[in-house]
Amino acid sequence: METAIQSMKMYIGGAWMPSSSQQTFTTINPANQEPLAELPRGTAEDVDRAVKAARAAFESSEWSMMVPAQRGRLLLAMAERLRRRSDELARLETLDNGKPLSQSKVDVEVAARYCEYYAGVADKIFGETIPIMPGILDYTLREPIGISVQIVPWNYPLQIAMRGIAPALATGNAVILKPAEDTSLTALKLAEIAEEVALPGGIFNVVTGFGEVVGAALTAHPDVDHITFTGSVPTGIAVMKAAAENVKPVTLELGGKSPNIVFADADLDEATNWVVRSITQNAGQTCSAGSRLLVEQSIHDELVSRVARKMESLALGPGMEDPDLGPIISEQQLRTILHYLDLAKQEGVTIVTGGERADGDGLAKGFFLRPTVLDNLAPDHRLAQEEIFGPVLSVLTFTTVEEAIKIANGTEYGLIAAVWTNDLNKAHWVASKVKAGQVYINTYGAGGGVEMPFGGYGKSGFGREKGLEALRNYTQVKNVALRLHMKEPTQPAGKTAVKLE
Ligand code: NDP
Repeated sequence: METAIQSMKMYIGGAWMPSSSQQTFTTINPANQEPLAELPRGTAEDVDRAVKAARAAFESSEWSMMVPAQRGRLLLAMAERLRRRSDELARLETLDNGKPLSQSKVDVEVAARYCEYYAGVADKIFGETIPIMPGILDYTLREPIGISVQIVPWNYPLQIAMRGIAPALATGNAVILKPAEDTSLTALKLAEIAEEVALPGGIFNVVTGFGEVVGAALTAHPDVDHITFTGSVPTGIAVMKAAAENVKPVTLELGGKSPNIVFADADLDEATNWVVRSITQNAGQTCSAGSRLLVEQSIHDELVSRVARKMESLALGPGMEDPDLGPIISEQQLRTILHYLDLAKQEGVTIVTGGERADGDGLAKGFFLRPTVLDNLAPDHRLAQEEIFGPVLSVLTFTTVEEAIKIANGTEYGLIAAVWTNDLNKAHWVASKVKAGQVYINTYGAGGGVEMPFGGYGKSGFGREKGLEALRNYTQVKNVALRLHMKEPTQPAGKTAVKLE
């Protein structure tokens, strides 16, 4: 699998096909730049074909009349196949994305968990009865929204895809998945799994290709009903604008500059481990990465030195060797990060460790970067404000709780935050004041949390994914009011009602 170039097709309407243009593009292994696969370069015509197939499948009686429990069983079958093929899928994800093999295995397991979690929900989504007045029966129905487009980035290809696909299918929608051009391979394996479990053709489609063509055509298509997008702020804005033209709802998850806020009374061993892990997992290419360290002045030197030592102990290498950090996804993304590091050097920012590309010991052909700590940044510095999306930690110092909260809230993002302290009053106070969709106290991420609502404040986006909250994205409420043509029963003549005590 490592060397043979595969020629792949995309999956539309239950059939495998090339691009309508017959054009392809090549995806490479970021650990050594070797080609991995040829993929169809989708067109607006392919998108239109996928939307028509999804519409027909969504309206079909096979799908719309399927009992909800059966939709749940299909998702359970997908979970089972994901687990059965875990080794194969994890290897493919690692070759395509670069992440360490053990992290890819976690991604496959989380994808299976999404299927399982929402499978259990499929037959538990229902409306309410509302007491309007006597003689009126008023109730709500929770109906699927229709065709849900899932535009997915390259950092967690399988996991983020399933985060949206599973609730969309559980609630009875049809799905069109547009994977990132750099990481489409496991998306096509998902299509294989959908076919294996006999999901009706057209209910799940994958259109491969470039964002500016396939993504743009999907978001502008008038017959799409909802878009879930995960990626950068500029592309999120473009998606929102295109969807606005057709008045279509969007769910946006646009990354962050999430803080680990460490107070002097925190357990420094724990804090050090999590600060490092939260910025080096997936080589820092995580929307919820802990990319800012806000540290109380009195422990600054101690904590920064511990973090730097820990980072220096981490192993870099091809993901297939399961190191601590694999390569950055692409040359373009590596260049973006190096540009930020050049800025740090030009402006005399203290680089405690890292700060450069790693190209020794067989790494020269890949896009490897040393984990980096940038110290003593002012809160409004670009390096403390902008999403770098690599293993680069920006350190800022505070002296009071109020200052910590102000700095934490001082970016345009608000995805997650973590507070490290043994003072629970302080922890809850900070949690209540921090503007972020998720707050952790003395932990970070809590194991991924399929069950926990996840989403952003500010430019981190809006709408919530994961947990039961996600179901709001994929259902719409219909209110039905029925006037009952019934009168009070009249008493038969000559009889008196029996009075009951
Ligand atoms: P993008 O936001 O451009 O890409 C995310 C997804 O959107 C991909 O599937 C992409 O396709 C697609 N896309 C691109 N253009 C359009 C469009 N006009 N309409 C609809 N869909 C489109 O991210 P990049 O890959 O360019 O990464 C740039 C930066 O984005 C990173 O440095 C990082 O800061 C941030 N990012 C944030 C992520 C997060 O998890 N929040 C994930 C990834 C990146 P294609 O791959 O073909 O371009």
